[in-house]
Amino acid sequence: MDLRRWCRLTARAATALVCIVVCREAAALDISRRYRSPRNPERRVRTATKLIVLHTTEAPARSSLNKVSDRGECHYCVTESGQVYAIVDRDREAFHAGRSMWQGEEDVDKFSVGIECVGYHDKAMPSVQIAAIRELVKDLKAMYRIPDHCVVCHSHVAYGAPNKWHKTKHRGRKRCGMLFAMPSVRRQLGLTTRPAFDPDTRAGRLSNADDYLRRVLYGRVDTMVAAYGMATAKPKPTAPARPVVKAAAPVAAKPKPSSTAKAAPVAVSAAPRTIAELKARAYVDRGTVTKDRTAIKIAGAAWNSPQTYYTIRDKVIPGSSLDPAHIEKGMHVWMRK
Ligand SMILES: [Zn+2]
Repeated sequence: MDLRRWCRLTARAATALVCIVVCREAAALDISRRYRSPRNPERRVRTATKLIVLHTTEAPARSSLNKVSDRGECHYCVTESGQVYAIVDRDREAFHAGRSMWQGEEDVDKFSVGIECVGYHDKAMPSVQIAAIRELVKDLKAMYRIPDHCVVCHSHVAYGAPNKWHKTKHRGRKRCGMLFAMPSVRRQLGLTTRPAFDPDTRAGRLSNADDYLRRVLYGRVDTMVAAYGMATAKPKPTAPARPVVKAAAPVAAKPKPSSTAKAAPVAVSAAPRTIAELKARAYVDRGTVTKDRTAIKIAGAAWNSPQTYYTIRDKVIPGSSLDPAHIEKGMHVWMRK
C-alpha cells in the first residue's frame, strides 16, 4: 500500500471513529417530540428550578404518554425501552406535583422539572430505562446546577390535606416514584446522596401519615436491592455504606473468629399467601373492617405496612400494596403478636 492510500484510509477510519463517538453521544439522549403537549403555549415560564422530581406513571407506555401529553403533566416521559419524550418545554411549568411542598414552599411545580417514568413505584425498571433516566437527570442537573439530594421523587414532596383519616396536613399521600429514593436505584442513576430527612415534617408543617413510606424515603428499606444492588455492589472491606450519613468511626473487630467477608444479602422472605401461612408465621387476626371499624382503627399507623396483611375471599394482600380505596368491609386485618 502506498503512503497516500494509507493516509487516506487512516483519515477515513478516524472520521468514522469520530462519527461513532459523536453519534453515541447524541444517541444517549435521543429525545422525541412526538408527544409534545398541546398545553405548552398556555404554561408559564418558571422563574426558578430547584428540584428534579421523578414519578412513576403506574400505567403502560401508550396510555401514560397520551395522558401526560394531553394534560401537560410533566416535562419528560421515559418509557421502558429507554425512549425519552419531551412533553412540556423544559423551562415552562408542567403540572406534575399536584398538592406539594418542600422546605415550606408550596406548589413544587413552580420550581421543579418533572420526569414521568413508565412503570410502578414498587417494581424494578429495565436497565435500559434506568440508563436513559440517568442521562436525562445528568443533563438537567448540569443545566440547572441541581445537587443530587435535590433529585427527589413525587412521594418526597406530595402531601395530603386534612381528611377523615388525618386531622392535619400530612405527608404520605402518594407513593409515586418511591423506588427512586432507594439507595440501590440511586446508585444506578449516578446519584450519591438523597434528602437526609423530611424538612416539612421535621418543622411541624406536616404530620407523618405513612411510616413505611418514610422508612423507604429516609430509612434503610430498599426493596430494589435484589434487582439493582447486587449486580453493581463493589466489595467493601469496611462497614456497609450508609447513604448520606458520614462514615462512622472504625468498628472494633468482632470477637467472632469466622468472618466470611460476604455482605449479608437483604433477607427477602416469600410473603405468606394463605391464612395457614400467616398463622404459621405468628400472625393473628386483629379484627374485621366494618363501616365504623376502619383499617386504621384496627392497625393504627401500620395499616399500610408490608408487615400487616389483609385477607378476604382467600386472598392475602400486604398492607403496603393495598390501595386505600379498595379496603372493603369484611376484610380481616392480620398482624404479628
Ligand atoms: Zn407522581
